[in-house]
Amino acid sequence: MIETTNKQLIESKRISLQDVWEAKSTISPLLKKTPLLFSKTLSKACGAEIYLKYEHLHESGAFKMRGAANAVNALSATQKENGVITYSTGNHGFSVALAAKKLGIRAVICVSKHVPNAKIEKIQSLGAELEIYGDSQDEAEQRCYQLEKEQGLTVIPPFDHPHVIAGQGTIALEILEDLPSVNSVIGGLSGGGLLSGIGLTMKTTNPEIQVIGVSMEKGAAMYESLLAGEPVSVKESPTLADSLLGGIGETNNYTFNMVKSFVDQSQLVSEETIKKGMAYLYKEHHIVVEGAAAIGVGALIDNLITVKPNSKNVVIITGCNVDLDVHAKAIQPYL
Ligand SMILES: *Cc1c(COP(=O)(O)O)cnc(C)c1O
Repeated sequence: MIETTNKQLIESKRISLQDVWEAKSTISPLLKKTPLLFSKTLSKACGAEIYLKYEHLHESGAFKMRGAANAVNALSATQKENGVITYSTGNHGFSVALAAKKLGIRAVICVSKHVPNAKIEKIQSLGAELEIYGDSQDEAEQRCYQLEKEQGLTVIPPFDHPHVIAGQGTIALEILEDLPSVNSVIGGLSGGGLLSGIGLTMKTTNPEIQVIGVSMEKGAAMYESLLAGEPVSVKESPTLADSLLGGIGETNNYTFNMVKSFVDQSQLVSEETIKKGMAYLYKEHHIVVEGAAAIGVGALIDNLITVKPNSKNVVIITGCNVDLDVHAKAIQPYL
């Protein structure tokens, strides 16, 4: 009889700081380092130093380009020849399409019949092929795994994947380079690829650095899973933080355990708080960002998360893919 405990399984799949450094050298030709800006007004409001990491400045409009570029680049020569496939119509899908284009690899994005034209045009402009199938995102996902088998394409998952997690971890390397004495990092939490990568990197470097995740009140799959002690599925509700929607997968291999180990605090916030964050970043920093990217700033200005007096804190501004009319309507009450 062979005994394999859960712990051994997790150990064998461990992602290390070295993987994050390797990701940095892999992706550096494909994307630029993003700025870390000191926010004078937020710092004054919080009684501590607050810095904003401008991850919405990537060509794909979100940090997900890091993980996607790392994962696509790590494929074998045969896999690259056969191409990649995914089913996200959001930031991950855009990023996979763009990474594949830059590396000269075929990319297929599966979408349902109901995906809006604006998204279809964006995917096509990034050079990816569209596979329009079914009436829901679930059916598009099933089609994705069917085409993986039929056409030998490789699926690039959005968060629960070692190369994706290591790619997102490169954000933390850049923060440490610019602000070595950082005390905490705050970011949106969905599938947990972002905070698994950042958490691994920060905690390995200095276990004292706090990692804080923020999610929307309804449909926060990782938050509910942490409460339940195992991956659970949740009902989706409409939210301005649409990039934080989606489950964490029943057979989550990496991010559930990594978030459990590395994230010190996880906080839910209301739609109003998200709107305030978006309005604040627009008014004080003149940037247009999506709800998922403004969630940390919203939580800070509503005092839902607190930072130690005079400490140094970084909020990740994760993406800017938001319709302008949605943005205008969201911020209007808080201008
Ligand atoms: C994906 C995404 C997140 C959350 O990242 P996870 O790895 O899924 O936790 C946050 N903000 C934006 C803009 C995203 O696209």
